[in-house]
Amino acid sequence: MAARRRIALLGSTGSIGRQTLDVVESFPDRFCIVALSCSRSADAIVAQARRHRPRLVAVADPDAAARARAALADTDIEVATGPEGLARCATLPEADVVVAAAAGVAGLPAVWEAVQAGKRVALANKEALVVAGHLISAQARRSGAELVPVDSEHSALFQCLLGQDRGAVRRVVLTASGGAFRDCGEQELAHVTPERALAHPTWRMGPKVTVDSATLMNKGLELMEARWLFGLTPEQLDVVLHPESIVHGLVEFADGSVMAQLARPDMRLPIQFALSYPERLPRPEPAVDLAAVGALHFEPLSPERWPCLALAREAMARGGAAPAVLNAADEVAVEWFLAGQVAFTQIPRIVEAALRECEAGPGASIEDLLAADRSVRERLQRDRERWS
Ligand code: MG
Repeated sequence: MAARRRIALLGSTGSIGRQTLDVVESFPDRFCIVALSCSRSADAIVAQARRHRPRLVAVADPDAAARARAALADTDIEVATGPEGLARCATLPEADVVVAAAAGVAGLPAVWEAVQAGKRVALANKEALVVAGHLISAQARRSGAELVPVDSEHSALFQCLLGQDRGAVRRVVLTASGGAFRDCGEQELAHVTPERALAHPTWRMGPKVTVDSATLMNKGLELMEARWLFGLTPEQLDVVLHPESIVHGLVEFADGSVMAQLARPDMRLPIQFALSYPERLPRPEPAVDLAAVGALHFEPLSPERWPCLALAREAMARGGAAPAVLNAADEVAVEWFLAGQVAFTQIPRIVEAALRECEAGPGASIEDLLAADRSVRERLQRDRERWS
């Protein structure tokens, strides 16, 4: 009987974090939690800590950390705070797997710490590889850290590549559901509400990624992740629209064979595989029933209809800090859209303006990349009026 895998879960109160705990709970003799972290959800992380009994809890916000510490005073669970607290969770010596599920560029420093420490990182945070993929992949080679993708598309590609000749990969294809507004015309798009954007047809996810799915910026970010995860060139990365979200990714080989991974759209499946890899553990739900699904559809994506995807490709081609600029502008634009301050169709315009106007240096260090991220945010806030 294998020893239990000890898991440090960064971003435990978000959508991926909660689903990771669901998976851990279904295999109590295979997985256990040794650390939990979040940015500020004190009540939620206290409840999780009481249930899973980690050694360490980190809450980034100091006030929320103080509340969590008081609430856990009757336990032997240590509560840390600030960037140091998150870094301790990411590098905890007894952790076998670090699940990086904190959302946004805020999750990058902890991923960097875990990679430097040579950990196996189950990577659910997109921004780390989008913003700093060139640094993280090089550092992982040096430290021996292993990146196992959690995102469904990358998990699909990872699974299709297991045991394969990497040199024979011609290209990979990620599928995109098209999100909430796949069939909307330009006129209608200009007036869609945040509520409608958050009603994703196939996946259950957090708000930022759900809006990014509707603009397809999410797919653009995923192309950049795939590039670094699998050591590919931008020309080897493709996307196809697939409304059913049953096929998650495809790998095309030199001989013309194409391998695909199919599963119901349920994040717990790729999460579980990232935790148990290389082993596969059973899940109670039946596999996808193709006879019941009946038909699977695939369509090409036009750059005119999906400007965010084209912008992401441009940032990827430019490299350096350009993806950091794109990502920061998108985070701000989505936040403004969710707050009802800008129209949905302004998201690509804001991102495009940032890419044209903001300085994007070579991004030679994590500090440089985080500085580029901050300066884009500050500049957009200063120019806020421009987008009203
Ligand atoms: Mg995805």
